[in-house]
Amino acid sequence: MRIPPGYVSIVGAGPGDPELITVRGRDRLANADVVIYDDLAGSALLAYCRAECQRIHVGKRCGRSTWTQDRITDLLLMHVGRGRRVVRLKGGDPFVFGRGGEELNALVRAGVPCEIVPGVTAATAAGAVAGVPLTHRGIASAVVFVTGHECAGKTDETIDWAAYARLRATLCVYMGTRNLASIAEKIAEGGLSKDTPVALVSRASWPDQRIRFFTLGELSAGFSGEADTPALAIIGEVARIPAEAAELAMATAVAV
Ligand code: SAH
Repeated sequence: MRIPPGYVSIVGAGPGDPELITVRGRDRLANADVVIYDDLAGSALLAYCRAECQRIHVGKRCGRSTWTQDRITDLLLMHVGRGRRVVRLKGGDPFVFGRGGEELNALVRAGVPCEIVPGVTAATAAGAVAGVPLTHRGIASAVVFVTGHECAGKTDETIDWAAYARLRATLCVYMGTRNLASIAEKIAEGGLSKDTPVALVSRASWPDQRIRFFTLGELSAGFSGEADTPALAIIGEVARIPAEAAELAMATAVAV
């Protein structure tokens, strides 16, 4: 599709590795007059833009930025009002904890033609790099994407962790590293065994990605994840699969 002037594409950048943006997302970047991007949308992706494309960084973490959501929306409307092809580049998928819905609403309300280009969300990226399938026949038939709020001092008491524990689904916790100990405790109180494995993947798909495995009990006994952001916790029996696969490979190697 040829993008007309005066159009906004809200594009999912994927988890970080510039190869993990969609073909459509890359195409939109290559045709953009203006790109408005967040911190998590890796700047390596900007290499796909034309030299004359204007790049505007509006990154914010935990709300600490002069760029409020309203200002970002105003910026989008200002540039599109001047007839530009605007890309709003957001980390992962714009509709998964990305506030893409709010920006879309504002654009639609203003009568601006726009589209959403989906992206690889952190949970699927983390699963891929850690070798943890989010669903697995006989082990997990449902997945939950839930936010744990990583901002210091900001906890969301409205999240019913015990209810999630009862689902026996794979729990993918976004923005949760700083509160992981208390989240693990609440999930265990909800009835999930303390032996339940957890894969913690920080900076999935970046050159410095880190993959670690814990049990729910280990995390609830104390975990400080200040240095681990952005990170995604995958909680559930599926997180046992990489260790089992490694054991199997070892046993096979010994047998030959
Ligand atoms: N829209 C994004 C999520 C934004 S919320 C998406 O779909 O992925 C930001 C949270 O996403 C971070 O706190 C972290 O939990 C997670 N995250 C984003 N990129 C990540 C990455 N490369 N590795 C691990 N977690 C990541």
